[in-house]
Amino acid sequence: MTKPAHPTFWPVLLEARAEAPGVRTFRFASPKGFRFTPGQFLMFHFADDPKTWRAYSICSSPLTEEEYFEVTVGMVGAFSARLGELKPHAEGGLAVRGPFGKWFYDGSERHAVLVSGGTGLTPFRAMCLLKIGMHADSRITLCCSAKTPEGLLYKHEYDGWRKNGVDVHEKVTQPGAGSGWEGEIGRWSAASVFAAANDPAAVYYLCGPNKMVQELRDGLERLGVPPQSVRTEKWGDYTDLF
Ligand SMILES: Cc1cc2nc3c(=O)[nH]c(=O)nc-3n(C[C@H](O)[C@H](O)[C@H](O)COP(=O)(O)OP(=O)(O)OC[C@H]3O[C@@H](n4cnc5c(N)ncnc54)[C@H](O)[C@@H]3O)c2cc1C
Repeated sequence: MTKPAHPTFWPVLLEARAEAPGVRTFRFASPKGFRFTPGQFLMFHFADDPKTWRAYSICSSPLTEEEYFEVTVGMVGAFSARLGELKPHAEGGLAVRGPFGKWFYDGSERHAVLVSGGTGLTPFRAMCLLKIGMHADSRITLCCSAKTPEGLLYKHEYDGWRKNGVDVHEKVTQPGAGSGWEGEIGRWSAASVFAAANDPAAVYYLCGPNKMVQELRDGLERLGVPPQSVRTEKWGDYTDLF
């Protein structure tokens, strides 16, 4: 009998942690033989509700894939609320299928420019961790943004990423009075991303809500970036988290 290409498995939650206000990271034990490439995502559903599926990108390193994988989830609706109720090591009826997706980074790009809004940063963490873990000398420029300084995902990891050759640029759109934010304010535009990359041969990865991804893609193409050098992952029609 042939094995299905995308088997379903029932992962065990190992731990969950707050990543930012309204955002949680879930670490699950990997099933035997689990493999993925950064950029790929998994489809989740609960056994008692087989019609409701949600996609989440894997945000952990492929170098730990035999042991565990992680997803970081915006706690925005009914499905994510149910994920938030899972208890470590307890049977929760959660089923997962995948990994899926041909939108990925395997370390071979000479210079990858990763641009995210809000939770769109999740697949890029896996990409940065792969480069760092492989000690690859390929370049990564990361341009991320969030609504508030506390909303920047994985911010306690940025210094380590920088020390290991990832060029991290963060922006905040609404820092708020008294936040103490001294960094850049505003959204990433195609022009600001292009300037941060400073490399006509760079390959761009864009991830987040549809509108953000489409505007950046159009803008980069207007600046002369060839369409084949712009890779996109659209997550849906929302604007509220960045
Ligand atoms: C390929 C792919 C990969 C994805 N990876 C991730 C991931 O790694 N992490 C993640 O949080 N989401 C990811 N998403 C989006 C994720 O599938 C949705 O967040 C999911 O639909 C939310 O389900 P829910 O039932 O909790 O909320 P819903 O009831 O489906 O949505 C509630 C509201 O929140 C809005 N919304 C949905 N997603 C987000 C979000 N991420 N941020 C802010 N508002 C949102 C919706 O438009 C809606 O208005 C991905 C989507 C795709 C297509």
